[in-house]
Amino acid sequence: MIRGTIIVATDICKACELCITACPQDCLEMSPNLNVKSYHYVQLKNDTCTGCVNCAIVCPDSAITVYRQAKSAT
Ligand code: SF4
Ligand code: SF4
Repeated sequence: MIRGTIIVATDICKACELCITACPQDCLEMSPNLNVKSYHYVQLKNDTCTGCVNCAIVCPDSAITVYRQAKSAT
């Protein structure tokens, strides 16, 4: 199994929500907080990310970086 996580460049996000629609794990949500451009930005809402990279591919502003690591056997 692959476990993933993402880092969002919050000040680049424009709240288009394309990444939320593209995520097969339903692990993204809009933050109630605003970035420097006064947009709500995307954040992880749980730890079910598999690192599939869909969110990073669809983001028109390349605001998401995906990291993957093998899940431990334990
Ligand atoms: S890498 Fe895949 S599973 Fe993880 S947040 Fe992005 S779309 Fe969702
Ligand atoms: S696709 Fe990119 S710009 Fe759009 S909401 Fe997601 S992180 Fe923000």
